[in-house]
Amino acid sequence: MERTTAQADRVDMVIVGAGFGGMYATWKFREQGMSVVSIEEGGDVGGVWYWNRYPGARCDLLAVDYSYGFSEAVQQEWTWSEQFAAQPEILAYANFVADRLNLRQHYRFNTRVFSAKWHDARQLWVVRTDDGKVIEARFCVMATGPLSKPTDPDIPGLARFSGQVLRAARWPHQPVDLTGKRIGVVGTGSSGMQIIQTLGRTDCELYVFQRTPSFTLPMRNRAHSAEYTAELKRNYAAIREACKLNPTGGARPVSTRPFFSLPPEHRRELMEEAWAHGGHTFLGIFSDLMTNAEANEQVAEFVRGKIAETVDDKELAEKLKPRGYPIFARRPCLDTGYYETYNLPNVHLVDCLADPIVEITERGIRNQSGETELDVLILATGYDALTGAMLAFEITGREGRPLAEKWAGGPRSLFGIVMEGFPNLFMTTGPNGPAALANIVTISENDVDWVARIITHMQQSGQAAVEATLAAEDAWMDQIQRLAGRSLMTKAKTWWVGANVKGKPQGMLMFTGGFHKYREACEAVAANGYRDLAFQQALATTAP
Ligand code: NAP
Repeated sequence: MERTTAQADRVDMVIVGAGFGGMYATWKFREQGMSVVSIEEGGDVGGVWYWNRYPGARCDLLAVDYSYGFSEAVQQEWTWSEQFAAQPEILAYANFVADRLNLRQHYRFNTRVFSAKWHDARQLWVVRTDDGKVIEARFCVMATGPLSKPTDPDIPGLARFSGQVLRAARWPHQPVDLTGKRIGVVGTGSSGMQIIQTLGRTDCELYVFQRTPSFTLPMRNRAHSAEYTAELKRNYAAIREACKLNPTGGARPVSTRPFFSLPPEHRRELMEEAWAHGGHTFLGIFSDLMTNAEANEQVAEFVRGKIAETVDDKELAEKLKPRGYPIFARRPCLDTGYYETYNLPNVHLVDCLADPIVEITERGIRNQSGETELDVLILATGYDALTGAMLAFEITGREGRPLAEKWAGGPRSLFGIVMEGFPNLFMTTGPNGPAALANIVTISENDVDWVARIITHMQQSGQAAVEATLAAEDAWMDQIQRLAGRSLMTKAKTWWVGANVKGKPQGMLMFTGGFHKYREACEAVAANGYRDLAFQQALATTAP
């Protein structure tokens, strides 16, 4: 590695993150002949799957979709054991990819980025890390992930609790013995539900502190047979193509049938079939689920009916039924026996809507009606999503402008990849793309490939720097607003709209038009002669 000054290493590109976006970027840009340094706060690869080792952690996207398509060697040599892979298998996959493609040599693990500053005259990024090192790079790729900065709940007294506090998003790497313990779980989103349905079936007393009930659908996970795996491996090319053309970035059914175009008995039949089949099939049976409030309510009522059928105690079933927001306006969860868990004698629901949490005490949690004594408190309270990781350190763009200033009213960019005022800075699965609304792995591959094409174009045309034009960024953000205005996705208080973090700008700033449309928009940039991007020639002052 070249050293330009006594302190700084000089490379072509710095990549931040060792999740699926960062690992792919590291491979891609190395293969493109660039020198790369990749930085990761965790001790190894895997991103969110490195950190989230809580009981029951599992991806609720099909493993076949939630895996790389760029390497034929990887997809032929790796075999998924079941439809929806558990965290240990996904982490093993990330490690397999890192070994097979020899990625670790580029990484500095256990290292945090402290600041990244664009130097106008030298046309490069100066990146400082918490170990005091400085790296200078022409390009920076922030593969920091939409869900990587966990948040603690806004409840007074957490530091006072004398028992053990465990966080879903920072679960210990050593096994934790919870046998016979009184455990409180705060949070009933995707993470909390997986913890509850898993720990509820073990030897413990489990207290679930539920504020907003979430809707969940049965996962009905299945092991892959040898025949299925062989068929899969023969058809990977077609599957990857199908993912690219799908709104979810996965190979999922998509309907063109509006809810009310069918008679009630036919609608019911389709819902029953999808419920029995499991997975996200349910989301693909009607075309207007997220645009027609009445259709949405009827589907929600079907699911509420299933909760009533499953939970023995009718009063408890009522408390578990989500109301007051459209189904799937919070991220849909997939479960394995979640509602059944509440029929177990050791599982207790504390309804924090009717009986709000007042504080965490030395001994447990105090709601208005009284205190629940606990040995262990598990926080599954979510993330400062989409922007949290990018704003966790100082990023300064052209003419010394801080990113925090540009994003003061919420994140703005073109495609969630490139920004006006921040030359040669790229994001993968950034906040203004489909981010968390589609398959992260498909989006990551799209975004990295797009950046690679732009860099190739720059090399061929002798450009030193690139950023989005303000006009292109504004037009993209307008399109996001227009689409969000038509969608029911904005009608719940969730991390999707920034509602879970106090003081955060509110609004749906992700692209809700579907991965396929997002990809088309990205593709159009080159086809339109790159007019959405502003390039800089090399300046006379630029260091070689
Ligand atoms: P989340 O969906 O944001 O859920 C956080 C939970 O904490 C909510 O139930 C929230 O209740 C509760 N909470 C926060 N502060 C609270 C307080 N002061 N008092 C009581 N409850 C409080 O976070 P998550 O479950 O970690 O999931 C985040 C995202 O990660 C998911 O949406 C998904 O995209 C991804 N994920 C995916 C999987 C999977 O693939 N299966 C698994 C885990 C996570 P309120 O809603 O009332 O605020």
